[in-house]
Amino acid sequence: MLVTSKEILQDARVRHYGVGMFNTFNTEMALGVMEAAEELRAPVIIGTAEALLHCCDLDLTFSMLKCLADRARVPVAIHLDHGFTESLIKKAIDMGFTSVMFDQSELPYQQNVDNLRRMADYAHQRGVSIEGELGHVVFDSAEDTGYAYTKPEDVADFVHRTGVDALAIAIGTAHGVYKEVPVLDLERLRAIRKVTDAALVLHGGSGLSDDDFRNVVRDGIQKINIYTDVSFATSQAAHDWVAAHDPRIENVSVKMREAARDAAIKKLLLFNCQGKA
Ligand SMILES: [Zn+2]
Repeated sequence: MLVTSKEILQDARVRHYGVGMFNTFNTEMALGVMEAAEELRAPVIIGTAEALLHCCDLDLTFSMLKCLADRARVPVAIHLDHGFTESLIKKAIDMGFTSVMFDQSELPYQQNVDNLRRMADYAHQRGVSIEGELGHVVFDSAEDTGYAYTKPEDVADFVHRTGVDALAIAIGTAHGVYKEVPVLDLERLRAIRKVTDAALVLHGGSGLSDDDFRNVVRDGIQKINIYTDVSFATSQAAHDWVAAHDPRIENVSVKMREAARDAAIKKLLLFNCQGKA
């Protein structure tokens, strides 16, 4: 059933588990993730990101995800991850996404606050959950201006003034593939958890150890974004099948879906969300 991410994440906070958010723009990844969630009876968030719209546009992705959410027996939120412009966020909200992330984390604090406040009002008037980012989790790109850890002393003010339902925080993770083993600042996470009731979000989850995932969920993260690990597993399965068997796309598609499902299950089991739907 289609719900907002706020509903899913509030339950996760109260019952101490983590929810997976998977960006999925093709049927193989989307079906694989949904099979994983159904098999584990886990609430789940599926979506796409602005940076992935060249693979499948917003309308088409939404139609696919909406169909999957409507037929699911577990709660599903449809999320736009890392929207950078107001126009795109509004388009997603008007289309029926139940959750959006408006990423203004590279702007100075006050601008981040002002922009999020405006979008939070727009989203909430339409029954949609909104996520902001405080501090900055770097992207795997030359243009990114650099890492900024979230300061716990800013969090309560930011959540109060913006009205965001969920907050992405920077505690040592990075987007994409890690060049060095990441070290998570769990003390910072615990300090942030103490000062807000907003759902806390971890970006850059791919590449963390199993213990890292267990620790962040224990210490107060509710939403964990996973993309790279599922994406690599899915394309590796296609490669392996073609190399060892045949290039028929209908066979490759099945193998990709199975790989996406298995990769998602592996992560969801670490989040302690099985049986929570
Ligand atoms: Zn992210």
